[in-house]
Amino acid sequence: MNTAKRYVVGLTGGIGSGKSAAAEIFRTCGIEVIDADSLAREVVELGQPALGDIAAHFGSGILTAQGHLDRAALRKIVFSNPEHKSWLENLLHPLIAELLQRRLNATKSPYAILESPLLLETEQYKLVDSVIVIDVNEEIQIDRSVRRDGSDEAVIRSIIASQIDRAGRIQRADDLVSNEAGLEQLREKIEALHRKYLGMVTEK
Ligand code: ATP
Repeated sequence: MNTAKRYVVGLTGGIGSGKSAAAEIFRTCGIEVIDADSLAREVVELGQPALGDIAAHFGSGILTAQGHLDRAALRKIVFSNPEHKSWLENLLHPLIAELLQRRLNATKSPYAILESPLLLETEQYKLVDSVIVIDVNEEIQIDRSVRRDGSDEAVIRSIIASQIDRAGRIQRADDLVSNEAGLEQLREKIEALHRKYLGMVTEK
């Protein structure tokens, strides 16, 4: 359970579903958004203890010449070896969760959003009071991701395969937002949710 007194809404969805677009709309409504992706990068920045632990475990080959994490090198190691992957996750997930909780506790808006692609795949869901799932079909996911990143369709498909499946994700939604139409429709749906959450937190 979320122990912070502020009401926290988790915002998740598959790759390219529109999480960032939805988060941006909440921000324009004055709601603070904590982004799990950027915190995950923060815990392995130069000078962070976790970076030293990773280098001690995998060797200094996973560092760049400047001493930063070489993400591509690390990805290669953990992608091909499940044991390495779980070692890394056991190190990082608790650190990320702790930092997320601290940042959520420090928010000041009427409620806060935790935006995370791994909300349901990790224990991050325990930090939130309810869950929004942004949902689009796989073809749209691929099309928008390829357009946005210029990445290969096969890469996007492999990321989709590594994430929780669509039906499983939808099942865990308290608020399901279909984002197959345009950005204006997304804005209307997010603003309606914003009014709903505001009503809930001011009722308390
Ligand atoms: P990731 O998990 O990869 O970070 P995401 O879920 O945050 O993805 P976004 O980056 O918000 O997804 O959206 C993917 C792309 O699709 C972006 O270029 C975004 O501008 C675009 N997009 C999002 N929603 C819509 C929409 N309703 N109509 C058209 N384009 C959209």
